[in-house]
Amino acid sequence: MLRFFLLKLSESKALARWVTRNSTTRRMARRFVAGETLDEAVAAARVCNDANMLVSLDYLGENVASVADAQRARDAYLEIFDRIARERLDANVSCKLTQLGLDLSVEFCEGLVLSVVEHAAKTGNFLRIDMEGSLYTQRTIDLVKRVRSQIPAVGTVIQAYLFRSEADIADLLGYGCRIRLCKGAYREPAEIAYPAKKDADASYVRLMQQLLASGFYHGIATHDPHMIAATIRFAAAQKIPKQDFEFQMLYGVRTDLQKMLVRDGYRLRIYIPYGCDWFPYFMRRLAERPANLVFFLENLLRG
Ligand SMILES: Cc1cc2nc3c(=O)[nH]c(=O)nc-3n(C[C@H](O)[C@H](O)[C@H](O)COP(=O)(O)OP(=O)(O)OC[C@H]3O[C@@H](n4cnc5c(N)ncnc54)[C@H](O)[C@@H]3O)c2cc1C
Repeated sequence: MLRFFLLKLSESKALARWVTRNSTTRRMARRFVAGETLDEAVAAARVCNDANMLVSLDYLGENVASVADAQRARDAYLEIFDRIARERLDANVSCKLTQLGLDLSVEFCEGLVLSVVEHAAKTGNFLRIDMEGSLYTQRTIDLVKRVRSQIPAVGTVIQAYLFRSEADIADLLGYGCRIRLCKGAYREPAEIAYPAKKDADASYVRLMQQLLASGFYHGIATHDPHMIAATIRFAAAQKIPKQDFEFQMLYGVRTDLQKMLVRDGYRLRIYIPYGCDWFPYFMRRLAERPANLVFFLENLLRG
């Protein structure tokens, strides 16, 4: 219930305005968001690289309402790829299609994505298209398949809580697509997604096995020690080398596990978000863990 309530609040523009202007909440968001500028994100990426962790940079933003905002986001992504190359960072980039205008028109959005993926390929890099709410799943998969058949430097994300995900993975693997597997962070109805954590977790393990057995390089994105242990066990049993897949975690979450995986020789990528439009991302992080909400409210009251 609380998770659904927080996810509902994450869609409120009025609350977003208040929270992003409040100095206490801005300070607290820094636990999950590297900063508001690319310089701050680059500094955080450098710290990760120095600790043998790979990075994916995400310029925060979603559901833009104008062509100009989507084009600005596209320009920001072109700049990120240039900066990664100039700074010689071991980093790729993640972005959301609704930030590149998917709500305005699929064709328009696809044009922007193509220009970003072209630039990614030119700089020897890779663009990961995040997966948003189920309203966008089919359009995201279709767009990624079309772009990928022209330029392979693009991949996407599959959410284990959706019933459809096994079929989506099979479809995307037919295109040689690299996939990030996550549990799923949005508010979805019980008709299309597992409401119970144990069922979503069981789905995660099945899909992880489907991905690792495929022979392509995928990302296993989770902070759940049971999912991580299941992945390590499966890879060992199938003799899949540690270099043939990577774990992925969010900036500021379970840094103890992050260090442990690197110490044990696994590849780990940290998803580093930055930018001013951090409210929905921050709310999804609160929704994932009730203790985060308690911490947040305590600080706000002290604030
Ligand atoms: C790299 C990466 C990219 C992602 N991309 C997407 C995407 O494109 N689309 C999408 O829908 N979702 C995405 N997610 C979010 C994902 O779907 C989950 O909501 C999130 O990862 C929490 O699930 P979990 O696997 O960590 O397991 P959970 O069962 O939620 O958590 C397991 C444990 O991890 C820790 N933990 C988890 N979340 C938090 C938190 N916010 N704060 C503190 N501790 C926490 C806690 O110790 C918890 O007990 C992404 C996640 C990662 C790591």
